[in-house]
Amino acid sequence: MDYDIVIAGGGMVGSSLALALAPLSLRVAIVEPVARTAVAQPSFDDRSTALSRSTQRMYEAMHLWDDIVAAATPVERIHVSDKGRFGFSHIDAKEQQVEALGYVVINRVLGAVLQDALDDVPDLDIVCPAKITNAAFGPDNARVTLQHAEGKEESLTCRLLVAADGANSSVRDMLGIAAKKVSYGQRAVVGNLLAEKPLENCAYERFTPHGPLALLPIADGRAGFVWTVADSDADRVLALDDAAFLAELQEAFGYRLGEFSRVGARAAYPLVLSKAVRLTATRAVLVGNAAHGLHPVAAQGFNLGLRDVAALCDCIADCDLDDPELLQRYAAWRKGDQTKLVGFTDGLVRIFSKQSTPAKALRDIGMLGFDMVPGVRSLFAKHTMGLAGRLPRLSRGVPLS
Ligand SMILES: Cc1cc2nc3c(=O)[nH]c(=O)nc-3n(C[C@H](O)[C@H](O)[C@H](O)COP(=O)(O)OP(=O)(O)OC[C@H]3O[C@@H](n4cnc5c(N)ncnc54)[C@H](O)[C@@H]3O)c2cc1C
Repeated sequence: MDYDIVIAGGGMVGSSLALALAPLSLRVAIVEPVARTAVAQPSFDDRSTALSRSTQRMYEAMHLWDDIVAAATPVERIHVSDKGRFGFSHIDAKEQQVEALGYVVINRVLGAVLQDALDDVPDLDIVCPAKITNAAFGPDNARVTLQHAEGKEESLTCRLLVAADGANSSVRDMLGIAAKKVSYGQRAVVGNLLAEKPLENCAYERFTPHGPLALLPIADGRAGFVWTVADSDADRVLALDDAAFLAELQEAFGYRLGEFSRVGARAAYPLVLSKAVRLTATRAVLVGNAAHGLHPVAAQGFNLGLRDVAALCDCIADCDLDDPELLQRYAAWRKGDQTKLVGFTDGLVRIFSKQSTPAKALRDIGMLGFDMVPGVRSLFAKHTMGLAGRLPRLSRGVPLS
């Protein structure tokens, strides 16, 4: 056997998995098609990602948190509002008795920390740039064919293949696992700007008739925005000059943070809900976006993917890699968390997109109830922080070794 585990995809989730597995003394390979030094690495781009508390604990247990937090911004409050309505809701770190509800980090910065750490992992091969082009699975091993950037083909055997190759996972297709996909007919336009009033560690989520708009506190007093626009309008919005773009964004958000200025480069991501119909096949598992792709409204996709990683690591630590029980345990463990979060994020987008008067009134009542009914906010905060349900060791901050 060439490897115990081959990880398809060295993005945010695949790299984190390789690092999490390090204490288990397994022979691991990551296969990644985009060169490690490439500015165009799609997983480690200029997006800002909100890391939940369970993600923080996990990186603490992996001894990576000090490097990540040095470049991250704490979120102490989350402010949720519905455009055109008076009410708003909030969650406060103090009320939840934590120092922060989460931290915002630029993907590129997180990527640099992960890439540096990968270089120090013994028994890890990073096969890059190369992509997996075929995989065959038998009771004894998985045989993976990969193609290096210069065209050369190579074949590897492993005891377990992990698909961490993103929402359009070709490894998932090779496994014969279908994914249910529904387009939201929207794109997330992301970038950063300067707001007249400082965000003071508050993250804003504003629901507008065209979709949610989030402003996240990032380094240097700037705000990262994730603005949902209709597919049909996205090209026009992206082509606007800075002043016109800021005026439209301001109109969507309002003046709670004063005037917006100094907008940076913009990029757009198509928004598709996807969910694999199964999480495992013989000698193979799915993690991260290969298993589920969420709307970014609740900033949970990566955090959910890291809980996949943490659960998989627990199963690997406790079972023989050749034991099919490992796959069953992983699938059973992850099903609930994934199904709940897919349903929650999708429900949120759909409820807030309805513009009828009864729907708006219901939302007002919901927001009020959220603020007034004791316990509701804490329960919501617990889910937002990724601390609900049975958590694997790493998500509780317990190292694997
Ligand atoms: C606008 C936006 C904002 C977001 N904000 C948040 C947030 O605040 N918080 C949060 O938790 N989540 C957020 N997310 C979700 C988060 O970005 C994703 O969940 C995360 O990037 C998934 O990581 P991944 O490694 O599974 O997949 P990807 O990032 O897609 O990485 C997949 C990797 O696999 C590689 N690959 C592709 N094909 C192959 C192949 N054949 N063989 C080998 N490798 C291959 C790719 O090159 C890539 O490196 C956001 C998403 C969007 C779109």
